[in-house]
Amino acid sequence: MPDVSTGQAADLVVRGLTVSVDDKEILRGVDLTVPAGEVHALMGPNGSGKSTLAYTLSGHPKYTVTAGTATFGGEDLLALPADARARLGLFLCFQYPTAIPGVTTVNFMRAALRAQGKEMPAREFIRRLNEEMAALRIDESFRARYINDGFSGGEKKRAEILQMAMLRPRLSILDETDSGLDVDALRTVANGVTRLAGPDMSVLAITHYPRILEYLKPDQVHVLNHGRVILSGGPELASQIERDGYEPIIGPTAVAADGGRRSLTGVTAEAQA
Ligand code: ADP
Ligand code: MG
Repeated sequence: MPDVSTGQAADLVVRGLTVSVDDKEILRGVDLTVPAGEVHALMGPNGSGKSTLAYTLSGHPKYTVTAGTATFGGEDLLALPADARARLGLFLCFQYPTAIPGVTTVNFMRAALRAQGKEMPAREFIRRLNEEMAALRIDESFRARYINDGFSGGEKKRAEILQMAMLRPRLSILDETDSGLDVDALRTVANGVTRLAGPDMSVLAITHYPRILEYLKPDQVHVLNHGRVILSGGPELASQIERDGYEPIIGPTAVAADGGRRSLTGVTAEAQA
């Protein structure tokens, strides 16, 4: 295992990543680089493959990589099981966090730290947990509640960011962490991420809506459509999507399934082939 004690962000480099789920090809050659310490946004319409990319990078067994590479700090991610990727410093904020009845938030956090070799003395753990919970405006009662069990949408997202704050990953992938949040919760969650982002932690923020990006201020914005990154640009790309939607970029949604590669006649390259 490489040395993870440095706690420094590292480059994520994805090349030609092709992924199938249940024999259906979802990602069709994703190219994406998130340089160490940068905040990048991945946007795209529903069903474009954003969550598939997040799950594939974190090592979910359901997603089969059929071609391409993904490295983090030069380390071949695809060769590692999910737990090793987490120990390497990769963290995925789930779009739909799972409840674990019977496991309290405090015990869950302790177990997560232990699993990554980041255990700390009980007093320090409690002090840090209290600090991070206060920063995220999470009520103290949550320590003793079962993780995500009966949490509201906003509470689940805060609990995800709390894990991130405790684990201090080197790269956080946030999958629609903004969905289901009201404006105040969105600001709290975004501030929680911004506080950690920097030389120690890069961020890949997956989002359907540009709102959270006003807070996260990404260095770059990428647009995924039909399993490929079809456009990358600066933060102004998010503003453009906010203003005009995806259509000017990917074409009318009815033909969005062609990945936006339409010929002048409006017939897709694939249809012509
Ligand atoms: P996004 O997060 O951008 O909305 P997803 O990655 O969730 O997109 O899904 C991309 C495509 O893959 C969709 O067409 C979806 O129906 C399909 N898909 C995702 N998960 C599965 C699965 N487990 N089985 C079959 N198809 C799936
Ligand atoms: Mg998704």
